[in-house]
Amino acid sequence: MTVTDATDETVLRVTNPATGELLTALPAVSARQVAEAAERAQRVFESGSWSRLPPRERASVLLRLADLMERDAEALARLDSEDAGKPITECRTGDVPGAIESIRWFAEAADKLFGRLAPTGPDHLGLISREPVGVVAAILPWNYPLAMAAWKVGPALAAGNCLLLKPAEATPRSALHLARLATEAGLPEGVLTVLPGHGPVAGAALARDPLVGALSFTGSTATGRRILTDAAQTNFKRVSLEMGGKSPQILMADALGFGDELIDNMIEAAFLTMGQNCTAGSRVLVHQDIAEEVLARFVAAAKSLVVGDPCEPETRIGPLISHAARDRVAAAVDAAAAAGAHIHTAGLPGGLPGAGAYYPPTVVTGAPVASDVLTQELFGPVVTVQTFTTEAEAIRLANATEYGLAASVWTRDLDTALRLSRDVQAGVVSVNAYSEGDISTPFGGWKQSGFGGAEKSTAAFAQWTREKTIWIRTR
Ligand code: NAD
Repeated sequence: MTVTDATDETVLRVTNPATGELLTALPAVSARQVAEAAERAQRVFESGSWSRLPPRERASVLLRLADLMERDAEALARLDSEDAGKPITECRTGDVPGAIESIRWFAEAADKLFGRLAPTGPDHLGLISREPVGVVAAILPWNYPLAMAAWKVGPALAAGNCLLLKPAEATPRSALHLARLATEAGLPEGVLTVLPGHGPVAGAALARDPLVGALSFTGSTATGRRILTDAAQTNFKRVSLEMGGKSPQILMADALGFGDELIDNMIEAAFLTMGQNCTAGSRVLVHQDIAEEVLARFVAAAKSLVVGDPCEPETRIGPLISHAARDRVAAAVDAAAAAGAHIHTAGLPGGLPGAGAYYPPTVVTGAPVASDVLTQELFGPVVTVQTFTTEAEAIRLANATEYGLAASVWTRDLDTALRLSRDVQAGVVSVNAYSEGDISTPFGGWKQSGFGGAEKSTAAFAQWTREKTIWIRTR
């Protein structure tokens, strides 16, 4: 097989977005290979080697996997950093420990999933059991490769399923490493199959496969729509979609009282993973009374972020995932500027790796209503700032998007915080912080950000299990 043709759909070329260096070229999984993997997974599921193992024993294997991930934490961090251009410090302190915690948390939950007993009369017993779906699939994005894998591998395997996992084209290596560690931990062959392949080929084959009973997708809203259509046109597999966002950060007039903490959180919300983050707080909505000071401090902080080689520990801003992504972001910002918006940006430092897809942290004010920077998920280090004077106006601006993934609210006033939290249309609202909660809290979007079930917490098991009623006549 040739590995030189970048457009060849039989090859996956993984390049470092910071340098343009080819990291690896893998054979890309074909639709036929997806079907074969599903058939193999079905046989393994039916054998009961994993699905009928006492949950406590499944937990032991997954706990060993978490220990092995801990052993290989640095290697895993490097794989995601090189493949996705993510700053290594983010991978070391966020993605990898989060992924380990996730596998451990779901392992520990494996033997704590109880069924229910219905409140019947004396002549019957209504048992409601919770069972694995069977062969299930997950399709991943490139922005949090290992972390998103762990959110899906943990509950899917803890519940007893056989999982087919398709990483994004750009970032397959940490998932492949995870699968090797799972084998080392004692997971039976065929329970976790990683299928590195192209979305329209391997991803679409998973969405259409008749043996796949449930599919959990994280990625863009456009792809989510296609997957739902494919599932509807084939076997009606259960689909859950975690998709894009355009999340607001609402700053009430008293928010400056939080001092540097406010600005630090705003920066993290806006620029973590270069803004290529589904929950990125990409729309700052600030009360008119504090707008001038907030803008000055926020822009100064954005300009001070260290842009550079993602391998360096002090780097906060690496490259975007590709030149095409960088060009899309630049085009939206240029269009806003042409329409009269003001662009606050530091420019890029010299000495960056030449072939990298870098774009500087950028703040946009005065963007015209309905411009792409205000309405589209740009997936880059670009934040708009808008002002409001009343709470009602803040809510109207916050909800003026087709997305509903996350939001943050900053105020010292508890009543205001509660009112805003209730009225913002989002699956996760954080108050006086930028946060998605921890592994014990459900995570999922509203509106066109999500569909079909949450990730994290025991709520995640709804994606990966199905209930059965067993009705017994007792006399
Ligand atoms: P994407 O939709 O382009 O790709 C996601 C995955 O879908 C990839 O594995 C890709 O190969 C696959 N795919 C592409 N076409 C397909 C098809 N026709 N059928 C089946 N699979 C197909 O998204 P991306 O660019 O990798 O990731 C960025 C997006 O992910 C952003 O919109 C971001 O907001 C979203 N995201 C959401 C969450 C969340 O939890 N809500 C988390 C991370 C990222």
